Amino acid sequence: MRRLVARLTALWVFAAAAPSSFGLELDGEAVQGGLIFGQAPTGSTVTYDGREVMVSDKGQFVIGFGRDDSGTVVLEVTEPGTPTQRLELAIAPRDYAIERVDGLPPATVTPPPEVLERIRREATRVAQARAQRDARTDWANGFTWPATGRLSGFYGSQRVLNGEPRRPHYGVDVAAPEGTPVTAPAPGVVTLAEPDLYYSGGTVIIDHGQGLSSTFLHLSSVDATVGQDVAQGDLIGRIGATGRATGPHLDWRMNWLDKRVDPQPLAGEMTQSVE
Ligand SMILES: [Zn+2]
Repeated sequence: MRRLVARLTALWVFAAAAPSSFGLELDGEAVQGGLIFGQAPTGSTVTYDGREVMVSDKGQFVIGFGRDDSGTVVLEVTEPGTPTQRLELAIAPRDYAIERVDGLPPATVTPPPEVLERIRREATRVAQARAQRDARTDWANGFTWPATGRLSGFYGSQRVLNGEPRRPHYGVDVAAPEGTPVTAPAPGVVTLAEPDLYYSGGTVIIDHGQGLSSTFLHLSSVDATVGQDVAQGDLIGRIGATGRATGPHLDWRMNWLDKRVDPQPLAGEMTQSVE
Protein backbone atom coordinates (compact mmCIF):
# COMPACT_ATOMS: atom_id res chain seq x y z
CA MET A 1 0.00 0.00 0.00
CA ARG A 2 2.73 2.44 1.05
CA ARG A 3 4.61 1.65 -2.13
CA LEU A 4 1.61 2.09 -4.39
CA VAL A 5 0.54 5.42 -2.91
CA ALA A 6 4.02 6.86 -3.23
CA ARG A 7 4.39 5.69 -6.78
CA LEU A 8 1.03 7.06 -7.81
CA THR A 9 1.81 10.38 -6.18
CA ALA A 10 5.15 10.59 -7.92
CA LEU A 11 3.72 9.60 -11.26
CA TRP A 12 0.87 12.06 -10.93
CA VAL A 13 3.16 14.96 -10.13
CA PHE A 14 5.47 13.93 -12.90
CA ALA A 15 2.68 13.43 -15.41
CA ALA A 16 1.36 16.88 -14.63
CA ALA A 17 4.78 18.32 -15.40
CA ALA A 18 5.75 16.45 -18.55
CA PRO A 19 4.24 13.11 -19.54
CA SER A 20 6.81 10.56 -20.69
CA SER A 21 7.88 6.99 -20.09
CA PHE A 22 10.79 8.10 -17.89
CA GLY A 23 11.69 5.12 -15.71
CA LEU A 24 11.81 6.44 -12.17
CA GLU A 25 10.38 4.42 -9.29
CA LEU A 26 9.96 5.79 -5.79
CA ASP A 27 9.15 3.59 -2.80
CA GLY A 28 8.14 5.51 0.31
CA GLU A 29 6.29 8.62 1.34
CA ALA A 30 7.19 12.29 1.43
CA VAL A 31 6.32 12.67 5.12
CA GLN A 32 8.15 14.10 8.12
CA GLY A 33 10.65 11.46 9.30
CA GLY A 34 10.08 9.41 6.14
CA LEU A 35 12.43 7.88 3.61
CA ILE A 36 12.00 7.35 -0.11
CA PHE A 37 13.99 4.64 -1.86
CA GLY A 38 14.48 5.42 -5.51
CA GLN A 39 15.33 3.55 -8.64
CA ALA A 40 16.46 5.71 -11.56
CA PRO A 41 17.76 4.66 -14.96
CA THR A 42 21.38 3.47 -14.77
CA GLY A 43 23.85 6.31 -15.01
CA SER A 44 21.43 8.96 -13.74
CA THR A 45 22.41 11.79 -11.47
CA VAL A 46 20.00 12.87 -8.74
CA THR A 47 19.73 16.08 -6.77
CA TYR A 48 17.53 16.85 -3.76
CA ASP A 49 16.90 20.56 -3.32
CA GLY A 50 19.99 21.21 -5.42
CA ARG A 51 22.20 18.88 -3.36
CA GLU A 52 23.70 15.91 -5.17
CA VAL A 53 22.52 12.53 -3.87
CA MET A 54 24.62 9.34 -4.05
CA VAL A 55 23.36 6.99 -6.76
CA SER A 56 24.57 3.40 -7.12
CA ASP A 57 25.82 2.03 -10.42
CA LYS A 58 22.42 0.34 -10.72
CA GLY A 59 20.57 3.65 -10.27
CA GLN A 60 19.51 3.11 -6.63
CA PHE A 61 19.34 6.05 -4.22
CA VAL A 62 17.68 7.12 -0.98
CA ILE A 63 16.38 10.46 0.29
CA GLY A 64 14.89 11.38 3.66
CA PHE A 65 12.83 13.99 5.46
CA GLY A 66 13.54 15.43 8.92
CA ARG A 67 11.16 15.69 11.88
CA ASP A 68 10.33 19.33 11.21
CA ASP A 69 10.82 19.52 7.44
CA SER A 70 7.92 21.20 5.68
CA GLY A 71 6.87 22.61 2.35
CA THR A 72 8.01 21.16 -0.95
CA VAL A 73 11.33 19.65 -1.94
CA VAL A 74 12.55 19.27 -5.49
CA LEU A 75 13.99 16.04 -6.78
CA GLU A 76 15.82 16.29 -10.12
CA VAL A 77 16.84 13.19 -12.00
CA THR A 78 19.02 13.40 -15.08
CA GLU A 79 19.55 10.41 -17.29
CA PRO A 80 22.53 10.89 -19.61
CA GLY A 81 21.44 12.38 -22.91
CA THR A 82 17.93 13.30 -21.76
CA PRO A 83 16.42 16.47 -20.27
CA THR A 84 16.38 16.73 -16.48
CA GLN A 85 13.16 15.43 -14.93
CA ARG A 86 11.87 17.58 -12.07
CA LEU A 87 9.65 16.17 -9.35
CA GLU A 88 8.09 18.23 -6.58
CA LEU A 89 7.41 16.37 -3.36
CA ALA A 90 5.12 18.00 -0.77
CA ILE A 91 6.15 16.87 2.71
CA ALA A 92 3.16 15.68 4.75
CA PRO A 93 3.17 16.91 8.36
CA ARG A 94 2.80 14.62 11.37
CA ASP A 95 1.41 15.08 14.84
CA TYR A 96 3.87 14.36 17.62
CA ALA A 97 2.87 13.31 21.10
CA ILE A 98 4.25 14.71 24.32
CA GLU A 99 6.09 12.04 26.33
CA ARG A 100 6.79 12.56 30.01
CA VAL A 101 9.62 10.56 31.50
CA ASP A 102 10.13 10.81 35.23
CA GLY A 103 12.57 9.16 37.60
CA LEU A 104 15.69 9.69 35.46
CA PRO A 105 18.92 10.21 37.40
CA PRO A 106 19.07 14.05 37.66
CA ALA A 107 22.68 14.14 36.37
CA THR A 108 21.52 12.65 33.05
CA VAL A 109 18.88 15.38 32.54
CA THR A 110 21.08 18.31 33.58
CA PRO A 111 24.66 17.02 33.44
CA PRO A 112 27.17 18.44 35.93
CA PRO A 113 29.76 20.81 34.39
CA GLU A 114 32.62 18.32 34.78
CA VAL A 115 31.08 15.91 32.23
CA LEU A 116 30.32 18.53 29.53
CA GLU A 117 33.72 18.00 27.89
CA ARG A 118 33.13 14.23 27.79
CA ILE A 119 29.65 14.73 26.29
CA ARG A 120 31.06 17.06 23.62
CA ARG A 121 33.83 14.59 22.74
CA GLU A 122 31.38 11.69 22.48
CA ALA A 123 28.97 13.72 20.33
CA THR A 124 31.82 14.41 17.90
CA ARG A 125 32.61 10.70 17.61
CA VAL A 126 28.96 9.83 16.97
CA ALA A 127 28.73 12.59 14.35
CA GLN A 128 31.90 11.31 12.65
CA ALA A 129 30.53 7.78 12.54
CA ARG A 130 27.25 8.98 11.02
CA ALA A 131 29.05 11.20 8.52
CA GLN A 132 30.49 8.19 6.68
CA ARG A 133 29.25 7.86 3.13
CA ASP A 134 29.84 4.31 2.02
CA ALA A 135 28.60 3.64 -1.51
CA ARG A 136 26.95 0.37 -0.43
CA THR A 137 23.18 -0.07 -0.83
CA ASP A 138 22.67 -2.46 2.07
CA TRP A 139 19.24 -0.90 2.71
CA ALA A 140 17.91 -2.28 -0.57
CA ASN A 141 16.37 -5.50 0.76
CA GLY A 142 14.47 -3.91 3.62
CA PHE A 143 14.62 -3.87 7.40
CA THR A 144 13.58 -6.17 10.23
CA TRP A 145 13.07 -5.28 13.89
CA PRO A 146 16.45 -5.42 15.71
CA ALA A 147 14.59 -6.64 18.80
CA THR A 148 10.97 -7.33 19.66
CA GLY A 149 9.02 -6.20 22.69
CA ARG A 150 6.60 -3.51 23.76
CA LEU A 151 6.97 -0.22 21.87
CA SER A 152 7.55 2.30 24.66
CA GLY A 153 8.75 5.42 22.81
CA PHE A 154 8.16 6.91 19.40
CA TYR A 155 9.94 9.06 16.83
CA GLY A 156 9.43 12.78 17.10
CA SER A 157 7.66 12.95 20.44
CA GLN A 158 8.34 16.00 22.51
CA ARG A 159 10.13 14.96 25.68
CA VAL A 160 9.58 16.28 29.16
CA LEU A 161 12.27 14.71 31.35
CA ASN A 162 11.81 14.89 35.11
CA GLY A 163 9.39 17.77 34.40
CA GLU A 164 11.80 19.72 32.16
CA PRO A 165 11.17 20.17 28.40
CA ARG A 166 14.05 18.66 26.42
CA ARG A 167 14.88 17.80 22.81
CA PRO A 168 12.45 15.56 20.92
CA HIS A 169 12.91 11.83 20.94
CA TYR A 170 14.26 10.56 17.63
CA GLY A 171 14.17 6.80 18.01
CA VAL A 172 11.68 4.03 18.43
CA ASP A 173 11.98 2.38 21.85
CA VAL A 174 11.50 -1.35 22.29
CA ALA A 175 11.16 -2.40 25.93
CA ALA A 176 12.41 -5.94 26.62
CA PRO A 177 14.34 -7.69 29.38
CA GLU A 178 18.00 -6.90 29.91
CA GLY A 179 20.13 -9.27 27.83
CA THR A 180 17.61 -9.65 24.99
CA PRO A 181 19.61 -9.99 21.74
CA VAL A 182 19.80 -7.00 19.41
CA THR A 183 20.38 -7.89 15.77
CA ALA A 184 21.25 -5.92 12.65
CA PRO A 185 17.97 -4.82 10.99
CA ALA A 186 19.72 -4.73 7.61
CA PRO A 187 23.28 -5.40 6.46
CA GLY A 188 25.96 -2.77 6.79
CA VAL A 189 29.35 -1.90 8.23
CA VAL A 190 29.82 -1.05 11.92
CA THR A 191 31.11 2.52 12.28
CA LEU A 192 30.88 2.90 16.06
CA ALA A 193 30.91 0.36 18.90
CA GLU A 194 31.20 1.97 22.34
CA PRO A 195 30.37 0.26 25.65
CA ASP A 196 29.72 3.39 27.71
CA LEU A 197 28.70 6.78 26.27
CA TYR A 198 27.31 9.31 28.77
CA TYR A 199 23.77 9.64 27.40
CA SER A 200 23.39 6.52 25.30
CA GLY A 201 25.45 3.95 27.24
CA GLY A 202 26.42 0.96 25.12
CA THR A 203 26.08 2.25 21.56
CA VAL A 204 26.48 0.71 18.10
CA ILE A 205 26.14 2.47 14.73
CA ILE A 206 25.71 0.58 11.45
CA ASP A 207 26.16 2.33 8.10
CA HIS A 208 23.69 0.84 5.60
CA GLY A 209 25.13 2.91 2.76
CA GLN A 210 24.59 6.22 0.95
CA GLY A 211 24.41 8.12 4.25
CA LEU A 212 21.69 5.96 5.84
CA SER A 213 22.66 4.64 9.27
CA SER A 214 21.12 2.96 12.30
CA THR A 215 22.10 3.72 15.89
CA PHE A 216 21.35 1.40 18.83
CA LEU A 217 21.38 2.86 22.33
CA HIS A 218 21.46 1.74 25.99
CA LEU A 219 23.00 -1.69 25.24
CA SER A 220 24.14 -3.80 28.20
CA SER A 221 26.75 -5.44 25.98
CA VAL A 222 28.24 -4.49 22.63
CA ASP A 223 28.90 -7.45 20.35
CA ALA A 224 30.28 -5.66 17.30
CA THR A 225 33.54 -4.02 16.33
CA VAL A 226 34.25 -1.00 14.16
CA GLY A 227 34.85 -2.01 10.54
CA GLN A 228 32.91 -5.27 10.88
CA ASP A 229 30.53 -6.16 8.06
CA VAL A 230 27.23 -7.43 9.44
CA ALA A 231 24.42 -9.34 7.75
CA GLN A 232 20.75 -8.83 8.54
CA GLY A 233 20.00 -10.73 11.76
CA ASP A 234 23.58 -10.79 13.09
CA LEU A 235 23.92 -10.22 16.84
CA ILE A 236 25.34 -6.74 17.53
CA GLY A 237 24.60 -6.35 21.25
CA ARG A 238 22.10 -6.91 24.04
CA ILE A 239 19.35 -4.77 25.49
CA GLY A 240 20.20 -2.83 28.62
CA ALA A 241 19.52 0.36 30.54
CA THR A 242 22.93 2.00 30.23
CA GLY A 243 23.23 5.79 29.86
CA ARG A 244 20.08 7.89 30.29
CA ALA A 245 17.39 5.23 30.74
CA THR A 246 14.87 4.29 33.39
CA GLY A 247 14.66 0.61 32.45
CA PRO A 248 15.94 -1.89 29.90
CA HIS A 249 14.97 -0.98 26.33
CA LEU A 250 16.46 -0.59 22.89
CA ASP A 251 16.36 2.88 21.35
CA TRP A 252 16.77 2.43 17.58
CA ARG A 253 17.46 5.60 15.62
CA MET A 254 18.13 6.25 11.99
CA ASN A 255 19.87 9.05 10.17
CA TRP A 256 19.96 9.99 6.52
CA LEU A 257 22.86 12.42 6.19
CA ASP A 258 22.11 15.15 8.75
CA LYS A 259 18.39 14.31 8.95
CA ARG A 260 16.95 12.10 11.65
CA VAL A 261 14.38 9.74 10.22
CA ASP A 262 11.87 7.28 11.69
CA PRO A 263 12.93 3.60 11.71
CA GLN A 264 9.51 2.28 12.68
CA PRO A 265 7.74 2.27 9.27
CA LEU A 266 10.72 0.48 7.70
CA ALA A 267 10.43 -2.54 9.98
CA GLY A 268 6.63 -2.68 9.66
CA GLU A 269 4.39 -4.70 11.95
CA MET A 270 6.16 -6.52 14.75
CA THR A 271 5.22 -10.14 14.25
CA GLN A 272 6.54 -11.70 17.44
CA SER A 273 6.26 -9.72 20.63
CA VAL A 274 7.62 -10.53 24.07
CA GLU A 275 6.33 -8.76 27.16
ZN1 LIG B 1 14.54 6.25 23.54
